Amino acid sequence: MSGRRIGVMGGTFDPIHHGHLVAASEAQIRFALDEVVFVPTGQPYRKDSESVSPAEDRYLMTVVATASNPRFTVSRVDVDREGATYTVDTLADLAKIFPDDELFFITGADALEQILSWHRADEMFRLAHFVGVTRPGFELDGDHLPRGAVSLLEVPAMAISSTACRERVAAGEPVWYLVPDGVVQYIAKRGLYQPRGQGWVLGP
Ligand code: ATP
Ligand code: MG
Repeated sequence: MSGRRIGVMGGTFDPIHHGHLVAASEAQIRFALDEVVFVPTGQPYRKDSESVSPAEDRYLMTVVATASNPRFTVSRVDVDREGATYTVDTLADLAKIFPDDELFFITGADALEQILSWHRADEMFRLAHFVGVTRPGFELDGDHLPRGAVSLLEVPAMAISSTACRERVAAGEPVWYLVPDGVVQYIAKRGLYQPRGQGWVLGP
Protein backbone atom coordinates (compact mmCIF):
# COMPACT_ATOMS: atom_id res chain seq x y z
CA MET A 1 0.00 0.00 0.00
CA SER A 2 1.41 3.43 -0.85
CA GLY A 3 0.54 7.03 -0.12
CA ARG A 4 0.08 6.34 3.54
CA ARG A 5 0.64 8.81 6.36
CA ILE A 6 3.22 7.49 8.81
CA GLY A 7 3.85 9.06 12.22
CA VAL A 8 7.31 8.69 13.73
CA MET A 9 7.74 8.95 17.51
CA GLY A 10 11.42 8.99 18.41
CA GLY A 11 12.64 8.81 21.98
CA THR A 12 14.97 7.26 24.49
CA PHE A 13 11.94 5.60 26.10
CA ASP A 14 13.82 4.87 29.32
CA PRO A 15 11.08 3.95 30.22
CA ILE A 16 8.20 4.63 27.80
CA HIS A 17 5.32 6.31 29.70
CA HIS A 18 1.75 7.48 29.16
CA GLY A 19 2.92 10.96 28.06
CA HIS A 20 4.54 9.36 24.98
CA LEU A 21 1.52 7.17 24.30
CA VAL A 22 -1.06 9.96 24.60
CA ALA A 23 1.03 12.25 22.35
CA ALA A 24 1.31 9.54 19.68
CA SER A 25 -2.36 8.59 19.91
CA GLU A 26 -3.53 12.19 19.66
CA ALA A 27 -1.25 12.88 16.65
CA GLN A 28 -2.54 9.67 15.03
CA ILE A 29 -6.13 10.83 15.31
CA ARG A 30 -5.66 14.53 14.50
CA PHE A 31 -3.38 13.94 11.49
CA ALA A 32 -5.24 10.83 10.25
CA LEU A 33 -2.05 8.78 10.45
CA ASP A 34 -2.28 5.21 9.19
CA GLU A 35 0.48 4.08 11.55
CA VAL A 36 2.73 5.51 14.24
CA VAL A 37 6.20 3.97 14.38
CA PHE A 38 7.95 4.27 17.74
CA VAL A 39 11.72 4.42 17.35
CA PRO A 40 13.82 3.89 20.50
CA THR A 41 17.26 5.50 20.22
CA GLY A 42 20.41 3.42 19.94
CA GLN A 43 22.79 2.91 22.82
CA PRO A 44 24.88 6.03 23.40
CA TYR A 45 28.48 5.00 23.47
CA ARG A 46 31.23 5.76 26.02
CA LYS A 47 30.34 7.65 29.18
CA ASP A 48 26.70 8.27 28.29
CA SER A 49 25.99 4.56 28.08
CA GLU A 50 26.18 4.23 31.86
CA SER A 51 23.21 6.49 32.43
CA VAL A 52 20.92 4.95 29.81
CA SER A 53 19.40 1.48 30.07
CA PRO A 54 20.40 -1.12 27.48
CA ALA A 55 18.78 -0.52 24.08
CA GLU A 56 17.26 -3.99 24.14
CA ASP A 57 15.40 -3.25 27.40
CA ARG A 58 14.11 0.09 26.08
CA TYR A 59 13.08 -1.56 22.80
CA LEU A 60 11.20 -4.36 24.61
CA MET A 61 9.40 -1.94 26.97
CA THR A 62 8.30 0.01 23.88
CA VAL A 63 6.99 -3.18 22.27
CA VAL A 64 5.12 -4.15 25.46
CA ALA A 65 3.60 -0.66 25.79
CA THR A 66 2.41 -0.39 22.18
CA ALA A 67 1.37 -4.00 21.48
CA SER A 68 -2.34 -3.51 22.08
CA ASN A 69 -2.77 -0.60 19.64
CA PRO A 70 -3.25 -1.84 16.05
CA ARG A 71 -1.89 1.48 14.67
CA PHE A 72 1.31 1.45 16.75
CA THR A 73 4.47 -0.35 15.68
CA VAL A 74 8.11 -0.28 16.84
CA SER A 75 11.18 0.04 14.63
CA ARG A 76 14.71 -1.16 15.40
CA VAL A 77 16.42 1.18 12.91
CA ASP A 78 18.11 3.27 15.62
CA VAL A 79 18.77 0.35 17.99
CA ASP A 80 20.52 -1.54 15.18
CA ARG A 81 22.56 1.40 13.81
CA GLU A 82 26.07 1.89 15.23
CA GLY A 83 26.94 5.12 17.01
CA ALA A 84 24.89 8.04 18.27
CA THR A 85 21.31 8.43 17.05
CA TYR A 86 20.57 11.44 14.86
CA THR A 87 16.96 12.02 13.83
CA VAL A 88 18.05 12.74 10.26
CA ASP A 89 19.40 9.17 10.01
CA THR A 90 16.20 7.77 11.55
CA LEU A 91 14.12 9.61 8.96
CA ALA A 92 16.40 8.61 6.07
CA ASP A 93 16.15 4.94 7.10
CA LEU A 94 12.37 5.13 7.46
CA ALA A 95 12.07 6.89 4.08
CA LYS A 96 13.69 3.80 2.55
CA ILE A 97 11.29 1.48 4.40
CA PHE A 98 8.25 3.63 3.44
CA PRO A 99 9.35 5.01 0.03
CA ASP A 100 5.90 6.05 -1.16
CA ASP A 101 4.56 7.34 2.15
CA GLU A 102 4.57 10.68 3.95
CA LEU A 103 6.43 10.91 7.27
CA PHE A 104 5.26 12.99 10.26
CA PHE A 105 7.83 13.31 13.05
CA ILE A 106 6.09 13.80 16.41
CA THR A 107 8.01 15.70 19.06
CA GLY A 108 7.28 17.29 22.42
CA ALA A 109 7.59 21.03 23.08
CA ASP A 110 10.90 20.58 24.94
CA ALA A 111 12.56 18.86 21.99
CA LEU A 112 11.00 21.25 19.47
CA GLU A 113 12.76 24.19 21.16
CA GLN A 114 16.13 22.67 20.27
CA ILE A 115 15.38 21.17 16.93
CA LEU A 116 17.34 23.70 14.85
CA SER A 117 20.51 22.66 16.65
CA TRP A 118 19.99 19.05 15.62
CA HIS A 119 22.40 17.46 13.18
CA ARG A 120 21.57 18.31 9.50
CA ALA A 121 18.30 20.02 10.46
CA ASP A 122 17.54 21.29 6.94
CA GLU A 123 17.67 17.76 5.57
CA MET A 124 15.36 16.60 8.39
CA PHE A 125 12.70 19.08 7.32
CA ARG A 126 12.85 17.73 3.76
CA LEU A 127 12.29 14.17 4.95
CA ALA A 128 9.31 14.75 7.26
CA HIS A 129 6.66 17.16 8.34
CA PHE A 130 7.05 17.94 12.06
CA VAL A 131 4.25 17.78 14.60
CA GLY A 132 5.07 19.64 17.83
CA VAL A 133 2.91 18.58 20.77
CA THR A 134 2.28 20.38 24.05
CA ARG A 135 4.11 19.20 27.16
CA PRO A 136 3.48 20.57 30.68
CA GLY A 137 6.26 22.94 31.74
CA PHE A 138 7.32 23.90 28.22
CA GLU A 139 6.20 26.57 25.79
CA LEU A 140 5.08 25.19 22.43
CA ASP A 141 6.42 27.57 19.81
CA GLY A 142 7.32 26.82 16.20
CA ASP A 143 8.13 30.40 15.12
CA HIS A 144 11.85 29.68 14.92
CA LEU A 145 11.28 26.84 12.44
CA PRO A 146 11.03 27.02 8.64
CA ARG A 147 7.59 28.14 7.48
CA GLY A 148 5.29 25.20 6.85
CA ALA A 149 7.71 22.67 8.35
CA VAL A 150 5.85 22.16 11.59
CA SER A 151 2.29 21.92 12.89
CA LEU A 152 1.47 22.48 16.53
CA LEU A 153 -0.94 20.20 18.37
CA GLU A 154 -2.42 20.47 21.84
CA VAL A 155 -2.57 17.05 23.52
CA PRO A 156 -4.01 16.08 26.94
CA ALA A 157 -1.50 17.32 29.53
CA MET A 158 0.52 14.51 31.07
CA ALA A 159 3.07 15.80 33.57
CA ILE A 160 5.19 12.66 33.31
CA SER A 161 8.85 12.26 32.35
CA SER A 162 11.05 9.19 32.08
CA THR A 163 13.49 10.91 34.45
CA ALA A 164 10.78 11.17 37.14
CA CYS A 165 9.80 7.51 36.57
CA ARG A 166 13.42 6.39 37.02
CA GLU A 167 13.77 8.50 40.16
CA ARG A 168 10.57 7.05 41.61
CA VAL A 169 11.70 3.47 41.04
CA ALA A 170 15.11 4.26 42.56
CA ALA A 171 13.36 5.72 45.62
CA GLY A 172 11.11 2.68 45.97
CA GLU A 173 8.02 4.64 44.88
CA PRO A 174 5.41 3.19 42.51
CA VAL A 175 5.14 3.99 38.81
CA TRP A 176 1.75 2.31 38.41
CA TYR A 177 -0.53 4.45 36.17
CA LEU A 178 2.41 6.53 34.94
CA VAL A 179 3.60 3.74 32.65
CA PRO A 180 1.59 0.79 31.24
CA ASP A 181 1.17 -2.21 33.56
CA GLY A 182 3.42 -4.41 31.40
CA VAL A 183 6.18 -1.82 31.70
CA VAL A 184 5.85 -1.74 35.52
CA GLN A 185 6.30 -5.50 35.48
CA TYR A 186 9.19 -5.40 32.99
CA ILE A 187 11.04 -2.83 35.14
CA ALA A 188 10.67 -5.10 38.20
CA LYS A 189 11.62 -8.24 36.31
CA ARG A 190 14.84 -6.70 34.96
CA GLY A 191 15.63 -4.69 38.11
CA LEU A 192 15.91 -1.47 36.10
CA TYR A 193 16.54 1.91 37.77
CA GLN A 194 17.58 0.45 41.11
CA PRO A 195 20.30 2.40 42.92
CA ARG A 196 23.66 1.15 41.64
CA GLY A 197 24.49 -2.36 42.80
CA GLN A 198 21.05 -3.07 44.21
CA GLY A 199 19.40 -4.29 41.04
CA TRP A 200 18.92 -7.92 40.27
CA VAL A 201 19.06 -8.72 36.61
CA LEU A 202 18.45 -12.10 35.07
CA GLY A 203 20.07 -13.12 31.83
CA PRO A 204 22.41 -11.14 29.58
P1 ATP B 1 13.81 11.93 29.89
O1 ATP B 1 13.27 12.52 31.16
O2 ATP B 1 14.70 10.73 30.08
O3 ATP B 1 14.37 12.95 28.93
P2 ATP B 1 11.28 12.01 28.51
O4 ATP B 1 10.09 11.80 29.39
O5 ATP B 1 11.60 13.42 28.11
O6 ATP B 1 12.53 11.29 29.13
P3 ATP B 1 12.01 11.11 25.91
O7 ATP B 1 12.23 9.68 25.54
O8 ATP B 1 13.19 12.00 26.11
O9 ATP B 1 11.06 11.12 27.23
O10 ATP B 1 11.02 11.82 24.88
C1 ATP B 1 10.66 11.32 23.62
C2 ATP B 1 9.70 12.32 22.96
O11 ATP B 1 8.46 12.36 23.70
C3 ATP B 1 10.21 13.77 22.96
O12 ATP B 1 9.80 14.38 21.74
C4 ATP B 1 9.50 14.40 24.14
O13 ATP B 1 9.35 15.80 23.98
C5 ATP B 1 8.15 13.69 24.09
N1 ATP B 1 7.51 13.61 25.40
C6 ATP B 1 8.00 13.01 26.51
N2 ATP B 1 7.16 13.12 27.55
C7 ATP B 1 6.10 13.82 27.11
C8 ATP B 1 4.88 14.28 27.74
N3 ATP B 1 4.64 14.03 29.05
N4 ATP B 1 3.99 14.98 26.98
C9 ATP B 1 4.26 15.24 25.67
N5 ATP B 1 5.39 14.83 25.02
C10 ATP B 1 6.30 14.13 25.72
MG1 MG C 1 13.46 13.91 27.22
